[in-house]
This record gives sequence, structure tokens and C-alpha cells, in this order.
Amino acid sequence: MRYSALKILKEGLTGNKGWKPVWREPDPKPEYDVIIVGGGGHGLSTAYYLAKEFRGKNIAVLEKGWLGSGNIGRNTTIIRSNYLLEGNQPFYELSLKLWEGLEQDFNYNAMVSQRGILNLIHSDPQRDAFVRRGNAMRLSGADAEIFGREEIQKMCPFLDYENARFPIQGAIWQPRGGTVRHDAVAWGYARGADALGVDIIQNCEVTGFQIENGVCKGVETSKGAIRAKKVAVCVAGSSSRVMEKAGMRLPIESHVLQAFVTEGLKPVIPGVITFGAGHFYVSQSDKGGLVFGGDIDGYNTYAQRGNLPVVEDVCEGGMAIMPMIGRARLLRMWGGIMDMSMDGSPFIDKTHIDGLYFNGGWCYGGFKATPASGYCYAHLLATDTPHKTAEAYRLDRFRRGAPIDEKGQGAQPNLH
Ligand SMILES: Cc1cc2nc3c(=O)[nH]c(=O)nc-3n(C[C@H](O)[C@H](O)[C@H](O)COP(=O)(O)OP(=O)(O)OC[C@H]3O[C@@H](n4cnc5c(N)ncnc54)[C@H](O)[C@@H]3O)c2cc1C
Repeated sequence: MRYSALKILKEGLTGNKGWKPVWREPDPKPEYDVIIVGGGGHGLSTAYYLAKEFRGKNIAVLEKGWLGSGNIGRNTTIIRSNYLLEGNQPFYELSLKLWEGLEQDFNYNAMVSQRGILNLIHSDPQRDAFVRRGNAMRLSGADAEIFGREEIQKMCPFLDYENARFPIQGAIWQPRGGTVRHDAVAWGYARGADALGVDIIQNCEVTGFQIENGVCKGVETSKGAIRAKKVAVCVAGSSSRVMEKAGMRLPIESHVLQAFVTEGLKPVIPGVITFGAGHFYVSQSDKGGLVFGGDIDGYNTYAQRGNLPVVEDVCEGGMAIMPMIGRARLLRMWGGIMDMSMDGSPFIDKTHIDGLYFNGGWCYGGFKATPASGYCYAHLLATDTPHKTAEAYRLDRFRRGAPIDEKGQGAQPNLH
């Protein structure tokens, strides 16, 4: 069923009786060509592009909970392509281009809103670093501008320009960055994949891999064993736990990251704003809530909830740049499990086990990557070669001395 304004009008006039479920609830078949483990944003986009762009057939997505129960439905919804390094920038720019055509492509309203992202500058060295970043972005075809204080003051009069501990000196502005309604992304990809024949099986946990003579032949699940020619793992915060079942130890630690939403306010924040002297980022949802976050909690955990010291730290970051946020009442907060890699960059690669593939290590930046990650993972599954924008995301990059240390923090997952 295609969604359109005409369809909404027709259904509205006839009692809304013609809508169908957005995806089927099939039972698992005994065998598939490709099994994708994890029905988050990346798993569903992989299934969608594999079926649509690479003509993949006989595909299943196995999700241990319900679609959208992981980080795809927990993030602060920010998309951007303001990366510096060659291994990253073209990949995130591909993702932003895919976001731009996504709603027409999968015929679903994901509320893609390119309202812009403003990264504040608070010192001269930071301006130099951001100018360098902006130049790298423009070289790969992305958009970036450097603003002075007066331009920001016009755009965001509510920021603290008078008495801030870290005075605002300027900003780097990416107009094509913005926000997307996160769970609609999962639903849109699920609906698109289902329409192309992909079986999406919820409440089906993968509990083990069938590895015979070094070849992965299928998975054990809470709904029984399922054979497959290729198994593609894509489980974000659960990466280490799941790959351990295949005997693999990953360069990934799991950490919790929290998000916060206030009561609804009149429109005040024009785009996404990030603090450059602390860790704080904020945007305003279409319902009016201020959506914000900051650092990870800083200890290893698989719990989807955070602790109060980080709540205080994030709120201090907000108060440091926009004291008016102190008047807003916080309504909701939650946590998600981050698959933090050692250099802060992701993996999209084959493993040493034939037929077993891995996608993970997205840290807290994987939402914006959802379309490109799915596209490049589907490319790898269909052709057995990495897509040209994801060539650097190999599992052996630390052994080869080729990490992609975007932030220059070294091998410190809690600092990336
Ligand atoms: C609070 C917060 C804020 C964030 N903000 C941003 C942001 O603003 N911008 C940005 O780009 N990124 C952001 N991120 C990061 C981003 O959300 C993640 O990197 C990304 O969503 C991870 O990929 P995913 O959607 O596939 O993960 P998930 O949605 O977590 O999908 C993984 C799925 O695998 C399933 N699974 C796990 N184990 C098994 C198993 N054994 N068998 C079957 N299924 C299994 C899980 O149930 C889950 O549904 C944020 C994350 C959090 C938590």
C-alpha cells in the first residue's frame, strides 16, 4: 500500500478502515540466504537496501525484542556529516545524501528536518580546528560555514553572550544537518523491507551460531535453529555479547548514554546546537520538547539506564551556554547501550569465519549513519567487497596501525 495525501483523504472520509499492518508477522522459515541479526536501524536498513538495491531474496531480520526497542528509538535524533578524516567524511556525507531522499524512497514520513547544526567555538585553537574540519567537509562535497559571534547572536539570541565561563567566539554551521524522527526510521525501513519480501521476526533472540569447519551455516534462536548462507550481525550495544558466541573478542566496550526531554515549549531553538567547551547538544522536537544529551556515563554496562552524576553534568553544560534552560521542566530521560570502539569509528566487515559478517562500533554517532551503514553493509553482503566509502571500517585496522581516530583521543572509548 502506497501512502499519499489522496489515500489519507480517502481513508479519512471512509472511517479509516482500509489501513493495513505496516509489516507482516511471519514465522521463521527453516533456511534463508541471508539472516540479519538485530532489528535496529542498521539491521533494517541493511535488509531494505539488500532487497531493493542488490536484488537480494530470501532475507530475514531476527530481533530479540520489538522493532525500535534499542538505540534507534533512544537517540537524540541528530544527523550531520561534519567529520574530518578521510575514512569517515565521505561515508557520513553519503549517509546525509541518503537521508535527503529517504522519505520519497521508502514512502514513509520520517520527519527528516534539515534545520542545521551549529557547533559553538570558544577559543582561538578551537576556531583553527573547526576551520580545518570545515575545509575537509567542503572538499568531500559537504556544506560548512564559519560564523562570527554577531551572526550567532542573531540566530540564537537566547545563548549567554554576557557572562559565560566559556565565551562564545563563533561557530561552524552545517545547514544540511538536522534531526529525524528516530523510531519512524525503524518503521519506514521495516515497512519498505517487508514490502520487498523480507521476513521481520520479532521476539526472536539469537543465542548461538552454527559454525561447521570454520564456516557459519546458521543460527540458534529462541524460536529454534535457522540455517543461512550468510549471517550478518548488527546488534549495536550487544555486539560483544553476541560475537562472543562465535568465539570472537571485539575492540569494543559497552557504555550507557542518556537522553533528556523537557516539557513542550514554544519554538525557540532554530536547529541543533552543541557546546564546544563541554559536552552538551540540544535541539527542539516538533512537539516543542527540548531534546538534549551529553557524555556517556563512563563505566562499562549493559543496563539501559544511567546515573544521576551525569544528569547533573549534562544540565550544567546546558546552563553554561543557555541559562534559560534552567526554567524548563525535565519530563523524561532514558539510557541506551553504546558499542564504543577503541578509536571511536565503526566496523563494517567480514569476520575470519566464512559466512559471518559484522557491523558495529557506532559509539554515539550511529543514528546519522543508519542509511549509509545499511547501504554499505548490503553492498558487502551482496558482493563480498567493501563499499568504497566504508573501506576503512575493517576489523584488523588496529593490528595494521590504521585506526580512524577522529577525535585524536587515542585508544580511550570513554573519551570518544
Ligand atoms: C541516548 C542516545 C543518544 C544518541 N544520540 C545520537 C544522535 O543524536 N545522533 C547519532 O547519530 N547517533 C546517536 N546515538 C547513537 C545511535 O542511536 C546508535 O549508534 C545506533 O542507533 C545503533 O544502531 P542500531 O539502530 O542498529 O541499534 P539498535 O536500535 O540498538 O539495534 C540493535 C538491535 O539488536 C537487537 N539485539 C541485540 N542482541 C540480539 C540478539 N542476540 N538477537 C537478536 N537481536 C538482538 C537489539 O534488541 C536491538 O534492537 C545515540 C544513542 C543513545 C543511546
